[in-house]
Amino acid sequence: MSALLESYVAGHWFRAADEGQTVLDAVTGEEVARVSSRGLDVSALVAHARDVGGPAVRALSFHERAGMLKELALHLGGHKDEFYALSFRTGATRRDSAVDIDGGIGTLFSYASKGKRELPDDTVFLDGAVEPLGRGGTFLGQHVYTSRTGVAVQINAFNFPVWGMLEKLAPAFLAGLPSIVKPATQTAYLTEAVFRRIIESGILPDGSIQLISGGVGALFDELGEQDSVAFTGSASTAEILRRDPAVQERGLRLGIEADSLNASILGTDVAPDDPEFELFVKGVVTEMTVKAGQKCTAIRRVIVPEPIADRVIAALSDRLSRIVVGDPADETVRMGALASIGQREEVRRAITALRRSADLVFGDPDAVQTRGADAEAGAFLSPVLLRAHEGADEPHDVEPFGPVSTVLTYRTVEEAVALTARGRGSLVASVVTHDPVVARAITLGLAPWHGRVLLLDRDDAAESTGHGSPLPMLVHGGPGRAGGGEELGGIRGVLHHMQRTAIQGSPDMLTAITGRWTTGSQREITDVHPFRKSLAELRIGDSVATMSRTVTLADIDHFAEFTGDTFYAHTDPEAAAANPLFGGIVAHGYLVVSLAAGLFVEPNPGPVLANFGVDHLRFLTPVKAGDAIRVLLTVKQITPRSSADYGEVRWDAVVLNQDEEPVATYDVLTLVAKTWPAEKTWPAATP
Ligand code: NAP
Repeated sequence: MSALLESYVAGHWFRAADEGQTVLDAVTGEEVARVSSRGLDVSALVAHARDVGGPAVRALSFHERAGMLKELALHLGGHKDEFYALSFRTGATRRDSAVDIDGGIGTLFSYASKGKRELPDDTVFLDGAVEPLGRGGTFLGQHVYTSRTGVAVQINAFNFPVWGMLEKLAPAFLAGLPSIVKPATQTAYLTEAVFRRIIESGILPDGSIQLISGGVGALFDELGEQDSVAFTGSASTAEILRRDPAVQERGLRLGIEADSLNASILGTDVAPDDPEFELFVKGVVTEMTVKAGQKCTAIRRVIVPEPIADRVIAALSDRLSRIVVGDPADETVRMGALASIGQREEVRRAITALRRSADLVFGDPDAVQTRGADAEAGAFLSPVLLRAHEGADEPHDVEPFGPVSTVLTYRTVEEAVALTARGRGSLVASVVTHDPVVARAITLGLAPWHGRVLLLDRDDAAESTGHGSPLPMLVHGGPGRAGGGEELGGIRGVLHHMQRTAIQGSPDMLTAITGRWTTGSQREITDVHPFRKSLAELRIGDSVATMSRTVTLADIDHFAEFTGDTFYAHTDPEAAAANPLFGGIVAHGYLVVSLAAGLFVEPNPGPVLANFGVDHLRFLTPVKAGDAIRVLLTVKQITPRSSADYGEVRWDAVVLNQDEEPVATYDVLTLVAKTWPAEKTWPAATP
């Protein structure tokens, strides 16, 4: 008898008292596991997440959370063989499993790296710039994101038992939320195995991740305003969840990734001997056969110009005839089994529905040759290609969640866009064309109906990640029928879990709340030049107010000659006088910035190790010969790097002229040592 999968609740493994639902090996039909959550205390589950997990995760900064995700990715990477062995039993080949297992671990790495690079070492994220709300600069607005105090429930489909869990977990964890993971029963044994490794590692705080093996029971009764559910699965389950009182009455946030009739469109410009023709055919066959077509992003509709439809069908059929179906653990097999016999029955029913308005042009839905496996004991199915009749409805309605696509034809670009839109919103479309005019017309026509559009041609094919691969840095989700949800998309996926709030107040209050110095806040002009302070000694608001320097015509001439920037506004008095903005010779903006550096720098070796750039540089007022400039430089933000002996310091720089008008504003970005020999008695180089 196989093992009854357990749930993980409030720091303990929970085993249901009943026998549970039996899950069969997709390849052999043997029993793999039993699944049940009967008797699971969902109140305790949610309470533990809320009272223990949430506070523990929220106490960590974004960088600390990112560090844990990286550690977790490294840890899971050491157990891949064990995961692959189980993945074969789901019907997945080695290549399919790589998408799921390596893809999931890669998503953890990606979020770990983005969390470190794009989020502050803090628990609050600033959204956009400060908004001035009063003339005197004493009343400002700033949007901030903070962690919600609820739980993130993650309900996944059967097709990606590892990636599905990790791609939802990583952004939620970075956002400071505890997760409750609910895998689909059919492949829950693989998710449970990965989950056990996560728990054993001890990397994530107690209560930050819990597991339900089996049904969710009365879980939704426990959920409300601060909680979210991210659901991936069928449109029919999505509909049930949408109607739940937790969503309808208690403000539970529900994100949905449901079924999707993705399309690939061949441009009108492509002839059969163009490289794009081959790329198109290859792309369609890949998407039909990877994971045996059980991918939410798989190409279901193949939309081609009417005059070459026969050539496309012949080329697709030829390629499909070479796909070896069978035991996924056999390296020569290209396509494994569907997840279950029940799933195969569903796909067969979908094919029957499609055949009401389409002809079968390749494959036999009822029979398939298999290598190394029993075609009837396992959930094997031949790839199936159909050709739609003129005006067919079914291909735009029926999702065959298996290795099945339907060819549809069009005559004009407008018709191609209109046909694709009949899917009522999809996750992804690909456009295969080498003509930029066709590409723009189709892409902009499709964009309102899709979460992602892939353009494929001879120039990007070698590096293209392909139609079917959601990437952690790009959004995954689609409008309308695809569920209307959005996941991933780099830091966007983290912010989905957080609450955006507009904070209004004085500059000092905003500085205190955001941890970032706000223009108008107090500055601390200390005896010690801040360039002589280590990261440990620097404080937000530490400032330098420099002496002033008069900019001369000789300075401008010298800079023009030295750099070769002899633009007329700096060198030709007559032409410069005619310039409507300057009315005479002006200093180069870069000269102003260079002189400013000369004014604020402290030249001796010290804790400031490097200047790695400037942000938001704006030249606001022209500087003319005879103008005197000075600089106010203030520590705006301090971000230690956990993996280095230094951190980043962002300085607010304002260059003023003799009339106290700002001539340039920007942020200076430096790397500063965390510690430095005590040198506080050194005289500051500038007052
Ligand atoms: P499903 O039957 O809707 O199941 C999805 C998940 O919902 C499973 O974990 C399932 O658990 C759970 N579930 C079912 N009824 C529930 C309820 N009343 N309350 C809470 N949870 C419930 O879908 P599926 O057949 O597994 O997946 C195939 C579908 O998913 C396809 O339509 C496909 O297009 C879609 N999909 C979409 C994406 C995407 O990103 N957009 C990705 C993959 C798949 P049990 O398994 O325990 O019933």
